[in-house]
Amino acid sequence: MQNISTLHTHKFLVCCFVSGRQVMLMKDAAKLKQILSTPRRVVVTVHTNPDADALGSALGFASILKQQGHAVTVISPNEYPDFLKWMKGQEEVIVFEQQQEIARELLARAEVICCLDFSDLERIGHMGDIVRQSSAVKVMIDHHLEPEAFADFEQWSIEAGATAELIFDLAEEMDWVHYIGAAEADCLYAGIMTDTGGFRHPNTTQHIHEVVARLIGRGANTARVAKLVYDTNTESRLRLMGFVLSQRLVVMKEYDVAYIYLTLDDQKKFNVQKGDTEGLVNYALSIANITLAAMFTESKDMVKISFRSVGAFSVNEFARKYFNGGGHANAAGGKSELSLQDTIEQFKSLVIKYKQELEHEINTI
Ligand code: 5GP
Ligand code: MN
Repeated sequence: MQNISTLHTHKFLVCCFVSGRQVMLMKDAAKLKQILSTPRRVVVTVHTNPDADALGSALGFASILKQQGHAVTVISPNEYPDFLKWMKGQEEVIVFEQQQEIARELLARAEVICCLDFSDLERIGHMGDIVRQSSAVKVMIDHHLEPEAFADFEQWSIEAGATAELIFDLAEEMDWVHYIGAAEADCLYAGIMTDTGGFRHPNTTQHIHEVVARLIGRGANTARVAKLVYDTNTESRLRLMGFVLSQRLVVMKEYDVAYIYLTLDDQKKFNVQKGDTEGLVNYALSIANITLAAMFTESKDMVKISFRSVGAFSVNEFARKYFNGGGHANAAGGKSELSLQDTIEQFKSLVIKYKQELEHEINTI
């Protein structure tokens, strides 16, 4: 077999306009094609707490590669929510936290490691160092801000609304679109639907609609995917939402800020499962004139935080600067090792500091 390490290359992305629309192209795509011209052992991995874009992109991409004869395994750093458990191939996903030995073995033997929907190896916890030190060819496909330079091939753009959009662009460029059947199209569509907030966020571009049109052409069932992702609440999740909105929502009207918090006791009381808290932060943002929303979720060793904003106030910068996190300009996350109460106090004092920046953001959309 050809020595794969001699094929390592450097960077990357070319942005070009094809018939008037912006498309992200991978620099050295021909080289990647060459690497993938023989069957390879491939690991596809995603960020911790994978969402529909992470898992949908990974499973769609894994299937495209499998159909070309590669031995592909998707590894998730931790468990993912039940509302993603309809995706084709998800039953074969290895969860690093639960199957460390198998995952380490797969990573050690991998010739190609693909990192999807994240671009900072911090985002995969203990797997980060393994990937960093691996001699495998690394492919990164992502749309988060401030990427780490660890990959040999990158398909990275903050212009993309979803990683799934970049997967489609890459498939088109590599002549792989015929590998996208209904099941793969459903996975990619789920990523686009959720990362654009149901086609409501400013990342909902002409191009992403064009990609969606192509996915529908490949068999995506948009109504079914929407039902599976958004309308499969359990009774306890709905009751949790009712409780959160009436008891755990704080509106700082004077500052155009609203936040939600959830204690460990609350989570126990409502039998909170992975994914149950996803999207709750958006209810805080849905209040008229609110430009910054946060959700604080207490866990045993830290407080996980979700941030959402409207307009020019960058929660990526805010999360990066104060809460050891990052993400996108209007949707980011972070964490704090302070107590829940102290974390909220810190947040509130920052809100006071940023009063001016938080005003009238609606005008900057
Ligand atoms: P969510 O609030 O839905 O967990 O995350 C919102 C966005 O921020 C997602 O794109 C997610 O990948 C990113 N994100 C969430 N938590 C973190 C974090 O701790 N660090 C970084 N860098 N990004 C995060
Ligand atoms: Mn994404």
